[in-house]
Amino acid sequence: MQTKIDRGILLVISGSSGTGKGTVCNSLRKRRPDLEYSISATTRSPRAGETDGVEYFFLTRDEFKRKIEAGDFLEYADNYGNFYGTPRDKVLELLNLGKTILLEIDVQGAHQVQKNYPDGVFIFLLPPSIEELKRRIIGRNSETEESIQKRLSIVNDELESGKSYNYVVVNDEVERAVDEICAILDAESLKVGRNLNLFDELVKNS
Ligand code: ADP
Ligand code: 5GP
Repeated sequence: MQTKIDRGILLVISGSSGTGKGTVCNSLRKRRPDLEYSISATTRSPRAGETDGVEYFFLTRDEFKRKIEAGDFLEYADNYGNFYGTPRDKVLELLNLGKTILLEIDVQGAHQVQKNYPDGVFIFLLPPSIEELKRRIIGRNSETEESIQKRLSIVNDELESGKSYNYVVVNDEVERAVDEICAILDAESLKVGRNLNLFDELVKNS
């Protein structure tokens, strides 16, 4: 049955660093090409293979601060010494067009979105165990020892804030986690509040 969605869905996928947010979101985007992806801004340097405007908009700290002052971010966070933020206008424009937008952001940022946009769908991605989380952060080979320790030191607090999300998905196996996220999206798109037009059309044509 075709459903017409009145308003777009703001889908927020968050969780501790190393859980597999990026990996799961990449696979989700391949499976669901209809999803719009919000490209974040960051002050961190591009990694090998990253292109400005594709993975991130790479900004200087001054440029980023000017955008904070101008209120250009839906949320932003100082994440291990670098700023990361979600451009506000693009997200709101796409939501108004009825699109589903995927935000892959850290726990601090998701907390701000919960406050500013409580209608969002918040999914907390869990690692199968803390041991596996450590293996993944170390195995990614992208952090210094200090940065790994910083990330691990906030995991318990992040897990606590995960309890306020709408859904939890365990990233034990990527494709299985993506199956669950797709099921969540399907159920969310069938919510009455997102489909009031179906009722109105029936009444109008009766
Ligand atoms: P995050 O975006 O949450 O920081 P990444 O997507 O960068 O995490 O994943 C961290 C590491 O864990 C990467 O090396 C990735 O290949 C690996 N990884 C992600 N998901 C899984 C999984 N389900 N099983 C095994 N390894 C995984
Ligand atoms: P990385 O530097 O590995 O690309 O990302 C580091 C962390 O920043 C990840 O946990 C990622 O989810 C988070 N992140 C990426 N974009 C944003 C954003 O726009 N806002 C916030 N708050 N976090 C982000």
